[in-house]
Amino acid sequence: MRPPASMPREADIVIIGGGIVGVSTALFLAEQGIDVAVCEKGHIAGEQSSRNWGWVRQQLRDTREMPMIVESLRIWRTLARDIGEDVGFHEQGIMIAARTDKEAQQYINWIKTSDEYGVETRFIEGAELAAQVRGSTVRWKGALYTPSDGRAEPHKAAPAIARAAGRKGASILTACAVRGLETEGGRVSAVVTEHGRIKTSTVLCAAGAWTSMFCRSLDVTVPQLKVRGTVARTAPAENVLDGNLYDSAIALRRRDDGGYTLAHGTILDHPITPSTFRFGFKYLPALMMEINNLRISIGREFVEEWNMPRTWALDAESPFEKTRVLNPAPSKSVLKGIRNNLDKVFPQLASVEIVESWAGMVETTPDVIPVIDRIDSIPGFYIATGFSGHGFGIGPGAGKAIAGMLTGTDSGIPLDEFRLSRFFDGTRLELQSSV
Ligand SMILES: Cc1cc2nc3c(=O)[nH]c(=O)nc-3n(C[C@H](O)[C@H](O)[C@H](O)COP(=O)(O)OP(=O)(O)OC[C@H]3O[C@@H](n4cnc5c(N)ncnc54)[C@H](O)[C@@H]3O)c2cc1C
Repeated sequence: MRPPASMPREADIVIIGGGIVGVSTALFLAEQGIDVAVCEKGHIAGEQSSRNWGWVRQQLRDTREMPMIVESLRIWRTLARDIGEDVGFHEQGIMIAARTDKEAQQYINWIKTSDEYGVETRFIEGAELAAQVRGSTVRWKGALYTPSDGRAEPHKAAPAIARAAGRKGASILTACAVRGLETEGGRVSAVVTEHGRIKTSTVLCAAGAWTSMFCRSLDVTVPQLKVRGTVARTAPAENVLDGNLYDSAIALRRRDDGGYTLAHGTILDHPITPSTFRFGFKYLPALMMEINNLRISIGREFVEEWNMPRTWALDAESPFEKTRVLNPAPSKSVLKGIRNNLDKVFPQLASVEIVESWAGMVETTPDVIPVIDRIDSIPGFYIATGFSGHGFGIGPGAGKAIAGMLTGTDSGIPLDEFRLSRFFDGTRLELQSSV
């Protein structure tokens, strides 16, 4: 990661965070000729945006996210051509396989929602399923299949979008942590980075897992908890499917390099931190929904968060510089589960080597849909966070919607349901999908 060769003194809009949400927003703004700077404390897509499974999924989405993800798929289809760089996108479909009649019915019920948004989805069985997923030992009841869903390569996509935004005039500043904001008359007047101030009237905090902490230092409460996802990739191997498959034991995506990106089908690994107690009550419905999948642990993460300051001086090293890239260790037991389950579900992949494993912290809100909103207590300050395990696919669509919010123009994507106040104004939180 290279510190900026030079720093802009001012910008129309400053974005905190160079994940897929931040850089996609920057691209849409730069395309409109808006002077935008992205400040990333580490390297572009160093955290969630490069560590994810690479699924671009409309299937089984929360209905409130549907307009944004449908638009996002539209953008993904031509993204490589539009920006002139490969992002590894293939529209090769997503399948979620049912082992029981109950699961099958639950998935079939979603087809009605899919129809409402004009997304073709069907339940496939027998020979049609066997043609899509080859050689598995599992006798599935069938699978929900959305042919227009896709996959992309996380290590390619956000960096390519960031470079495209840069070519359109955005300043992409890496190794450039934002320590805080300055205000004049209560309004945002600048961001303070480790390399100096950037004067601006508008700031978007797209800081992923760091948003709650950054906002707390400004007296803005954002409920946010983290779930650790462990992921592995194999060496190139026999082609058992072209797109993506989810089963309760294993999730796999075919990669451009001929291998597979693998994850355990159901484990949600939550390291308890002080935030668990601070926000736990709001998360009770989500915890109940995931109770069978949840693995709770207490360890290093608790101590690290406990020792984190709540405020810090803007002229000294901040917590964001101390952890340039959040790099949790993959869970050994989850990796073991991935290996065992892969070998059982696809015996023909049993001898394939797992060549790399990693983990990422998925950050999520109590109702598992994002917060995309302006913060009334600090005019000029906006937030886009909490994309949960679905933010990679929706990233380009979110970028378009957020650019509309920041410029006061209608992107055609409704954002009302993503307001921050829903967690505090007595709104009954509705949970439609899992993390
Ligand atoms: C294991 C795993 C699997 C997943 N699988 C999928 C999937 O298959 N499909 C899907 O759609 N989604 C998936 N997701 C979710 C998806 O990756 C995220 O929702 C998405 O990447 C979030 O993007 P973001 O830009 O909001 O956040 P991030 O990618 O986390 O980016 C935030 C950035 O902000 C930076 N930052 C924070 N604070 C500061 C500061 N003060 N100054 C400067 N920079 C700062 C961070 O360094 C970070 O790079 C998965 C996530 C994980 C972890």
